[in-house]
Amino acid sequence: MKIGFVGLGIMGKPMAKNLLKAGYELVVYDIVGAPVEEVVGAGAQKGASPKDVAAQGDIIITMLPNSPHVKEAVLGKNGVIEGARKGSIVVDMSSIAPLAAQEVAAELAKKGVEMLDAPVSGGEPKAIDGTLAIMVGGKAGVFEKVKPILLKMGASAVLCGEIGSGNVTKLANQIIVALNIAAMSEAFVLAAKAGVDPGRVFDAIKGGLAGSTVLNAKAPMVLKGNYKPGFRIELHIKDLQNALDTAHAIGVPVPLTGTIMEIMQALRVDGKQKDDHSGVIQFYEKLAGQLVRSNL
Ligand code: NAD
Repeated sequence: MKIGFVGLGIMGKPMAKNLLKAGYELVVYDIVGAPVEEVVGAGAQKGASPKDVAAQGDIIITMLPNSPHVKEAVLGKNGVIEGARKGSIVVDMSSIAPLAAQEVAAELAKKGVEMLDAPVSGGEPKAIDGTLAIMVGGKAGVFEKVKPILLKMGASAVLCGEIGSGNVTKLANQIIVALNIAAMSEAFVLAAKAGVDPGRVFDAIKGGLAGSTVLNAKAPMVLKGNYKPGFRIELHIKDLQNALDTAHAIGVPVPLTGTIMEIMQALRVDGKQKDDHSGVIQFYEKLAGQLVRSNL
């Protein structure tokens, strides 16, 4: 079986490398040359376009920033849809609007091409380790065919429902992650200004009820003032916008999502949109006039 892979960014590159390590034949494409050369150096073939990648692959994985990029790469000129054969499967692992996933799937279905939406959580470290959490929408039969491949990139792959359900689940994930980071930031600034080393606060609470995967991943970064991405604030803004649009379209008020969106917008205006989302703490530091640092 040959796999096509489109989108070799922070996430796509290590995911593609894990498929190579697992022994799959891979043909890859990105609009940027350097990551393509790196993955070709690791054993992949170079594709000329998403169309070319799709023409060679039985399964075509896309890992792109947002809905417009997926629509362009799949449905646009020289897109996946022009090359994909009847019976092949497109697995979009990008985080996009659930409605966009349904629209792309409907176009592919006209050509007899199946699609799953399968966004991921875990960030670059888990993409490198092959331990991502993968949330999937689509038909059960298609999911079963693709599951062994997903489990070469992730520690878990859960079918959440019909097409679009993977991205609904991802929006839920992104609301929870963003608000955890905001809560951690608020708490650490309070501790620091009250004269307690935030590193000690982290050590003391991480095994209790406030402990979380978000805290374990992000506290060590913020305590050093390290906001190297990881997951950029601008991408989290994109996910929160998709969450707000989806929630409003179906009549779900999401007040806390609105608040963290405005915090991230303020950071964007401050020029910090390329920082890791752990950089949310800078908003709180500015409000309180208190830096959060620890040598522990
Ligand atoms: P990225 O910006 O690093 O990578 C995106 C890649 O897509 C880039 O290499 C870009 O050149 C390529 N690209 C854009 N348009 C293209 C096109 N038309 N054809 C081919 N290639 C194209 O982004 P990322 O961090 O790898 O994130 C990818 C997706 O995964 C996003 O939806 C993001 O929200 C999601 N995600 C990211 C993380 C993370 O921690 N970075 C974690 C979970 C999920």
